[in-house]
This record gives sequence, C-alpha cells and structure tokens, in this order.
Amino acid sequence: MSITVKQVSKSFGSFRALEHVSLEVAGGSLVALLGPSGSGKTTLLRIIAGLEVPDAGTVLYQDEDVTEAAVKDRNVGFVFQHYALFRHMTVFENVAFGLRVRRWPRKRVKERVGELLRLIQLDGLAGSYPSQLSGGQRQRVALARALAPEPKVLLLDEPFGALDAKVRQDLRQWLRRLHDEIHVTSVFVTHDQEEAFEVADRVVIMNHGHVEQTGTPREIFERPANPFVMDFLGNVNVFHGHVVRGRMKVGSFEVDYPAHPHDEPRPATAFVRSHELELLAKRNGRPSLEGKVVHVSPAGPVVRARVFAADFGVVLNVDVTRDRYAELGLEVGDTVYVAARDVRVYVQDYII
Ligand code: ADP
Ligand code: MG
Repeated sequence: MSITVKQVSKSFGSFRALEHVSLEVAGGSLVALLGPSGSGKTTLLRIIAGLEVPDAGTVLYQDEDVTEAAVKDRNVGFVFQHYALFRHMTVFENVAFGLRVRRWPRKRVKERVGELLRLIQLDGLAGSYPSQLSGGQRQRVALARALAPEPKVLLLDEPFGALDAKVRQDLRQWLRRLHDEIHVTSVFVTHDQEEAFEVADRVVIMNHGHVEQTGTPREIFERPANPFVMDFLGNVNVFHGHVVRGRMKVGSFEVDYPAHPHDEPRPATAFVRSHELELLAKRNGRPSLEGKVVHVSPAGPVVRARVFAADFGVVLNVDVTRDRYAELGLEVGDTVYVAARDVRVYVQDYII
C-alpha cells in the first residue's frame, strides 16, 4: 500500500501550516518526516491519517483518493508520543481492544494477540497492567495495539519522544528490525535526525510547512540540497563570504567556485563539516587557516577540537581521528593550521 501526497496545503486561521507539500511513500517502506518543531510534521501525518482534511491537494492510498475519507475507513494504526494505554486493562486486553471493537471471534483474538506479544517480545507480560511496565515496554504495547487489526498503514508521531536516550536508541533498532519483518507502510515523525537516519528507508526534511529535501539517509548526508538542510544536519562550520570570478572568498581564504564566473560579486555561504576539516602542524602549501586550539574533547570515537582562527574571529569545530590526535600530540594552546577537504558553497538568490 503506497501513499501519495500531492500539493497539499493547510492553514489554521491565517497561519499556513503546510504549503504545496508532495511526497511519495513506497508500499512497505518506512519514511521519516524530520524537521524542527512547528515545521508541520504532525499536521501532515494527521492529514495522511484522515484526522485532518487539507484545504487543497490530494492524498492517495495506492490509487484510491482518500482525501475526504474518514479515519475509520482508512485502516491506519497510530502510535503517539504519549502512550495512551488503558490503565485498567491488562497488556493482553490493550492489544485485543481494536479487535474486540471490530468483533473478531474470541479464538482469532487470542491467536492474534499472542502473535503480536511474541513479535514485541513481551509474551511473558500478557497479564500485567501498564503501571507495571517500563516506558519502553509501554511503547511496544502501544505499537502492538496499533498493529493488531492489520492496518494498511502505520503512523508514528514521535513515538519515543518521552523516553530517555538509552531506551530510545534500543527502541529505534528494535523498530527497524520489526519493520523488516512485517513491512507495513509506515510514516514516522521525529525531530531527531539520528533517529530518522537510523530507522528510515527515506527521510523527508521539512521546514516551515514545506519539504526541503527527500532522499535516502545517505543521499541527504552526502548531498544536502540547500543551506537549511546542511545546517539542520549539524556538526558544520559556516563561513559567510562572496563568490566572484570563479572563486568563493572568505577574507583571504579562497576556494574554486566555477559556477559563478562573473565579475559582479554575490553573497555566498560556505559550509564545512567538522570531519571534513583537517589539522596540520605546519602549512603544507594548500590553503589553510592559522588557529589556536582552545578546547579538546578526547572522550569518544573521534576527538573533537575547537580551534580559534583569530584572523576570522571564528571558532572552528574539527573532528580528528584518534590516530591523528595521537600523531599531532594535540593540546590546548597549540598553534595549528586548518585545511578543508570538502567545502560546500551555496550562493544566495538575488535580493532585489
Ligand atoms: P510539528 O509536528 O512539526 O512540530 P505541527 O504540524 O504540529 O508541527 O504544527 C505546525 C504549525 O501549525 C505550528 O506552528 C502549530 O502551532 C500550528 N498548528 C498545528 N495545529 C494547529 C491547530 N489545530 N490550530 C492552530 N494552529 C495549529
Ligand atoms: Mg509534532
């Protein structure tokens, strides 16, 4: 069951929450909607669910136009951040709830719930009450409850948002494995890029009610479409300068920019990721910035250094491998030269 969203717009009063949003969710895939708070992720998910009707545009399930279809006719499962398990019901009864409402026969309910509790690895807890479970276990039950009536589409809105970091990490790996087993078309909302990239087949990056970029995690990481995406992904150094005659210039620092061969300068921003900067003990002929090491954070798989480049008045964040760190004998106060392996330049549109 694929989902197609075409040119969907939605306003609340005079506020445009979604503007001409289009996206495609392939049948059986898991797509993440990723973006800052207020970017329209929940609104889009609610429109896909049928909890909200768009002002314009269409939503298709496979080839069927469901834009105006009621939520109860769409056969979707939901999981939200604030698990709303029924407190007075056991785990078994919580998962069985949707099946009883649909008047499944007793025997089939028992089989289906048993199957789901095994799937979420909680078969030993069928008789427990929600208050006896951990937060992570409760979210797994919420997921089993959503999956019980065999929905065509599973919609998850920040399902792990209320859990602590370690549990979140376990659950996202668990969700990915689960999805590999059951392959129900799923849309997962999150503002956490690590979560989106780890769980999803494709990621849709949203900002201010529109889609900035869609792609596989790798495509987005390797080819961010624009400065918003670059900045949102984080771990990046930003330089403001201009392009002119085939070069991007930031003070005395220059790199090639053949796309703008013209004489008139245009404002431009250069982005360099922390792991795309390199530290040198001495200049080696390539363009580099002189700086002073102001902080080293050596506790991790990569060593993070902060280097103050006085000529530019900026602090650069540089990730160094542990080997390179040892080789340089890096310490606070050292003078180093910072070179870039990869610089991405985005030229601002003309503002007239
Ligand atoms: P996200 O899930 O990305 O944080 P939302 O889709 O919840 O974003 O909200 C997008 C914007 O729309 C927010 O600014 C929010 O305040 C506004 N909004 C959402 N739902 C309503 C509503 N029912 N009435 C008025 N404004 C709303
Ligand atoms: Mg939201």
